Amino acid sequence: MPTPDPALQALIDQDFVPVSLILSSDNVNALCEKHKLEKCDDCHVDFSGTNYLARLLANNPNLLCPPPANVISQKLSQIVQSTKDEGNTLFKSGQTQQAIAKYTMAASLAVQRPPWEANQFMREELSTAISNRSAAYFDLHDFVSALADAETVVSIRRNWSKGHFRKAKALLGLGRFREAAEAVRLGLDYEPTSNELLSFLVDIEKVEKKLEEKKLEARQSKSEAIAS
Ligand SMILES: [Zn+2]
Repeated sequence: MPTPDPALQALIDQDFVPVSLILSSDNVNALCEKHKLEKCDDCHVDFSGTNYLARLLANNPNLLCPPPANVISQKLSQIVQSTKDEGNTLFKSGQTQQAIAKYTMAASLAVQRPPWEANQFMREELSTAISNRSAAYFDLHDFVSALADAETVVSIRRNWSKGHFRKAKALLGLGRFREAAEAVRLGLDYEPTSNELLSFLVDIEKVEKKLEEKKLEARQSKSEAIAS
């Protein structure tokens, strides 16, 4: 154990308030002594953050502490990547259901990234896996699930055109044309050069034009009907 910096130690001691706590039966979680609660308003304690870290360490007994961040990142990244790749292979070969299972696995691995690692990795890995799963759901014509996944992608990685693209496709699948057009335009605000979105916009504008023409036709035939 390194010797603590005395100035830092003094600072810690200054704010130190003793609390009565007990440990859970597996010796992992701290609880308030009186009510045996992880978060207790009566005792003014909240051990949820500490316990989360404790559980993480207890579940990974081989973890070095402090952890060499890049080593862990790389290993986890490889597993997430290879799981997602397996999903892509399955998707391409038409085994969509199995691909969805792989994407789900890749996503749940990505969120297991320990809290001391850069959040950005988690966001990228998670959003990619979920975005691919949205495409797979779309393929199965499960547009509701495709939309839910696309919304998740957009919320964790707003400036990535792919999420907006997936959202627009799902909305189109659901027949929500106006919202699909909005999603495409919002995506283009973030990434004006996205080819995927640009060609989607061309298609959408064609449909918009057709709808306008139909409206006009309907109005004309109505007024003709009135005139005659
Ligand atoms: Zn309590």
